Amino acid sequence: MLPTMTNARKRALDLLTFIDGAPTAFHATEQTAKRLEEAGFEELHERDGWKLSPGDRRYVARNGSSIIAFVVGSEPPEEAGFIMVGAHTDSPVLKLKPNAAVRKHGYRQLGVETYGGILLSTWLDRDLGLAGRVVVDSQGKQLETHLVHINRPILRIPNIAIHLNREVNTKGLILDQQKHLPPILGIAAPDSDEEEALRKLLAKELERDGVRIKAADIADFDLALVDVQPGCLGGQNEEFLWAPRLDNLASCHAALSALLDALSYQPTTAATRCIAFWDNEECGSRSMQGAQGPFLRQVLGRVVQARSPKVAEAVDRAFASSFLVSADMAHAVHPNYPDRHEPRHMPLMGKGPVIKNNANQAYASDAISSARFARACRAVGCEPQRFVVRSDMPCGSTIGPITAALTGIKTVDVGNPMLSMHSIREMAAVEDHAVMIGALGHLFGTIKTITKTSKKKRSRKIRLVS
Ligand code: ZN
Repeated sequence: MLPTMTNARKRALDLLTFIDGAPTAFHATEQTAKRLEEAGFEELHERDGWKLSPGDRRYVARNGSSIIAFVVGSEPPEEAGFIMVGAHTDSPVLKLKPNAAVRKHGYRQLGVETYGGILLSTWLDRDLGLAGRVVVDSQGKQLETHLVHINRPILRIPNIAIHLNREVNTKGLILDQQKHLPPILGIAAPDSDEEEALRKLLAKELERDGVRIKAADIADFDLALVDVQPGCLGGQNEEFLWAPRLDNLASCHAALSALLDALSYQPTTAATRCIAFWDNEECGSRSMQGAQGPFLRQVLGRVVQARSPKVAEAVDRAFASSFLVSADMAHAVHPNYPDRHEPRHMPLMGKGPVIKNNANQAYASDAISSARFARACRAVGCEPQRFVVRSDMPCGSTIGPITAALTGIKTVDVGNPMLSMHSIREMAAVEDHAVMIGALGHLFGTIKTITKTSKKKRSRKIRLVS
């Protein structure tokens, strides 16, 4: 076993590697699949028939941007259920419009749409790249999809100078999403075809990755602007994580790490263990690959069927004995805006995971599911924090209530405290990440119980598997 902070730092650095390699939901899914395959998971395709045996490690991706992985339990799911952690792969970004390339006042620019609840001002004056997927239509062949990540500063959305916007510091920055967001890509040549130039840029980038295509064969793309600055540890004692997309790649990474830890200690448990990462949470989850779609129900249903083909009510019984942790980041109290929090519910960074409640079911947690997660936190030496939004403010939501409503599975909403949520560069605590991995690992059946320490020490001292 490693000392707590060493382990936490190691986990945090691994999270930064994961985030830097996952500029979009497509890349996050690819990164997750890669790590799963390294741990012996095999890909299943939805169009194939599935045969499953206890201990099988499998994953399924949908649209290349959502992924569900599971380890088949020793007992059929209708007897032992599913133990699951859900999270989301997407983050608020600026996405390219289909006819993206424009020329304006001598500049080459790209038309963009906002995706999700983006904190727009943070995207100004940043060094931006481009990432996503490109669809290639070479005549006579099947459509091909390639991921692309231009991880160089090729784009910028410049602020307007204060001399031309004198009241910006007193009245705030107002951004018109149509007029003020198109980034500058370069200085336009007199007669250049801007759409063709963009396709050439993408083709050239793919060639760097060893994919040779003709620019004219790029039929379409799903691309977004991305920050090129890598994530880092920050703060006087490097106690913070400063990175893009912590919401919610930190939760994806925590769930994935916890599952892989569990496998090294317990290759098989009675329950079928599962992680589910969905795209499109930031725009309401309503898509074929989103949490409001049938992806989870279909995958779990097929796992049940493959194990118990003759038990008519097996799916309903399996869901009735299952548990889902909906892991998404939580609002830490901001020292400069403490009045935005409910006075008795002010999560602090560095004090571990937060259980989120809402009387109107914006979060799925109830007393039973909250107590179950609290028990997992205590098993790794941490008293969970609690969050409820102020009664005079609206509440955010997650995939938790959506999934609970679609499946009837008992669910708890949790997450690590963070600041700058939905900014291009967010902030969380190094130690919290390791505690979350430990707590989720405990649910997956991996963590040895903590040794006896004084109560005061216990809240900080955690023993995690390395
Ligand atoms: Zn989120």
